[in-house]
Amino acid sequence: MIPFDYIRAGTIDEAVAAASRPGVKYLAGGTNLIDLMKETVERPLCLVDVSRLPLETIESLPDGGLRLGALARNADTAYHPLVEKNYPLLASAILAGASPQLRNAATNGGNLNQRTRCYYFYDVATPCNKREPGSGCSAIGGLNRIHAVLGTSETCIATHPSDMCVALAALDATVQVQGPDEARSVPFGGYHRLPGAEPSRDNTLKPGELVTAIDLPAEHFTANYTYLKVRDRLSYAFALVSVAVAMRVEDKHVIELRVALGGVAAKPWRDRDAEHSLMGRPVGEGDFTIFAERLTRGAIGRGHNDFKISLARRTIVRALNQAVAGVPQSQSEKAIT
Ligand code: SF4
Repeated sequence: MIPFDYIRAGTIDEAVAAASRPGVKYLAGGTNLIDLMKETVERPLCLVDVSRLPLETIESLPDGGLRLGALARNADTAYHPLVEKNYPLLASAILAGASPQLRNAATNGGNLNQRTRCYYFYDVATPCNKREPGSGCSAIGGLNRIHAVLGTSETCIATHPSDMCVALAALDATVQVQGPDEARSVPFGGYHRLPGAEPSRDNTLKPGELVTAIDLPAEHFTANYTYLKVRDRLSYAFALVSVAVAMRVEDKHVIELRVALGGVAAKPWRDRDAEHSLMGRPVGEGDFTIFAERLTRGAIGRGHNDFKISLARRTIVRALNQAVAGVPQSQSEKAIT
C-alpha cells in the first residue's frame, strides 16, 4: 500500500475543511476503499476518517418520512423497525447485497459512493478511463458480460454495483450533503451520473462534500413492492439485473408506480414517462411487457452482455407481477416466486 496521511475528524466542519484539498478521501466503513487502496486503484494522499461523527442515527422526520444517517450501518438500517415496517422495499434491497459481515461494516453513505466492480477498473495493468482518464476502455471489445446496456458512452460501460441505491431511486429518496460553503439536498436521481465524456466522476458531489444523511419521503409502499435480483449465484454476488418496484394497486389498476433497474447502467435506471404510461392501466402481462420495452428502450449490448436486455425485460415483468400479487422476493431464501 502507498503511504498516506490520516486525520480523524472530530466534527463535520473539521472533516469537510480537511477534505476540501485535492487527493483527500473520506473513510467510513472502508469495505470498498481499503480494497481499492491495496490494489493501488485509489491512491489518496490523505484519508479523513469520519467514522466517529454523529451521523449514525435513524430518525423520523416531521413530514412522516425517515432520515437515515450516512454512518448508520447497512445491516442496522435494514433491520431498523421503521425501515422494516414502512420501507420493506429498502430493507429487502439492502439484504440482497453483499454478505452479513460486509453489511455490518458498510455505511449508508459508503454504499452510495462505492465504485464499480468492472474487472478492468481493478486491474491496474489494463487501460480504464474511469481509473486513468484518457487511457481507454478495456471492457468495450473485451470481456463485458457484467457491463451496462443503458446510458453508456464510448468512454465507459461500467455499472453501479449497489442494491440499496436501486431501492432508494424507486423510493425518491433525497441525499443530504454538507460542503465547505453550504449544505444542500440532492434528489436521488441527480446524485449518480452517467459516464458521458467524464467516466472518472461517479456522482455529482462537489470537492469536499460529505454525505450526511439520506431522507426517505412519507410515501411507504408496504403492500405492492418487490426487489427482484437476478445474479450468477444466490448470495454474495452483484446483480446481473435487478428491479425495484414500488406500486399502489386499487381495483386491479395501477394507481402509482416507480420502477428502478440495477445492474444495467452507471446509476439506478428510471424512466418517469414509462411509469406514467402504466398508471391508470389495468394490471396485466400485456401492458407490463410494453412497459418493460419502454423502460429498456435504447439499450445497447456490447457482445457478452447482449443477454441482459432480454433478461431485464423478463425480470421487469416478473417483478411487476410479484408486486401486484404482494409476494416480494425473499432475501433469506432468495426465492423468486
Ligand atoms: Fe474502465 Fe469503465 Fe471501461 Fe470498466 S467499463 S474498463 S470502468 S472505462
